[in-house]
Amino acid sequence: MKERPSIDLSIVVPLYNEEESLPELKAWIDRVLVGRTYEVVFVDDGSRDGSWEVISALHAADPDRVVGLRFARNYGKSAGLHMGFQAAQGRVVITMDADLQDSPDEILPLEKQVLEGGLDLVSGWKKKRHDPLSKTIPTKLYNWATRKVSGIELHDFNCGLKAYRREVIKAIEVQGEMHRYIPMLAKNAGFDRIGERVVQHQARKYGSSKFGLERFVNGFLDLMTIGFMSRFSRKPMHLFGALGSVMFLISALGLTVVVGMKLIAMIEVSMTGGEHVAKNITEISAFYISLAGMILGAQFFLAGFLAEMISRSDPSRSDYMVAETTGR
Ligand code: UDP
Ligand code: MG
Repeated sequence: MKERPSIDLSIVVPLYNEEESLPELKAWIDRVLVGRTYEVVFVDDGSRDGSWEVISALHAADPDRVVGLRFARNYGKSAGLHMGFQAAQGRVVITMDADLQDSPDEILPLEKQVLEGGLDLVSGWKKKRHDPLSKTIPTKLYNWATRKVSGIELHDFNCGLKAYRREVIKAIEVQGEMHRYIPMLAKNAGFDRIGERVVQHQARKYGSSKFGLERFVNGFLDLMTIGFMSRFSRKPMHLFGALGSVMFLISALGLTVVVGMKLIAMIEVSMTGGEHVAKNITEISAFYISLAGMILGAQFFLAGFLAEMISRSDPSRSDYMVAETTGR
């Protein structure tokens, strides 16, 4: 990709089958950004409609400002954002959805908040949403859970409209479906000056939502992953080892008690010469529970070891973020 001189803003727009919206979106961005240096990076996530033709036409009409990337197939919004981030050159990078639900009128206020507030990231907050209830209610729950796990006080983590300093987006990798958790990725990478701004939100004008209800299931699974990764990915043994040891020790203690009591009972029987009435040890349920606990504990421990070995042996891992260097 050819290097462009430093510019004020990059607007990164991931899109999948949004041909109707694109010309309107581009025209609106142009109106808002008169007099500024900017680029619009359209990432076509394997659209099956005419989106790529529209992007090509927009590029032909405005070659210096329109950057288009087209995926060979549909990889998902996270992949779109990731590649858009790689291409972006602006001092401030704004992401927005292609479907006109996010308003380009918010671009300049967001940029201002990043620069004047000295912030790493400003997330939009769709305080008044124009979406069906089936979406807004689970979203509240999801935002609450994400606040708890991340410790980041945002109301609307998954808002498509966000602004970043360029350094932030160059440092993070948005994999899988992690676009819902970019503020967490940023925080993990050491960019924790995070702000929020209430933004306008419109109902979808053309086409339909590209995400179904499975978004919530996937969202919660991803939240667990990222919560785990941010705490334990460099030291998985601290979780699995501790869990495994505690489980193993408690179970071993339980087993000792069961076997001990059985032995005492047997000794008593043999000393008093009474008839042996006590249960066989294999008929005592606590025996099996302790045994299962010991096996599970050992398994956890092994899982911790394996995870630790994997995390240490991967040479490509260097996710310690160096904030600055001096002298070289
Ligand atoms: N999108 C994408 N790849 C996908 C699904 C969606 O690039 O696989 C884009 C979509 O075109 C839109 C943005 O992500 O620009 C948000 O998607 P959508 O509007 O369907 O989500 P919703 O507003 O319903 O949350
Ligand atoms: Mg939308």
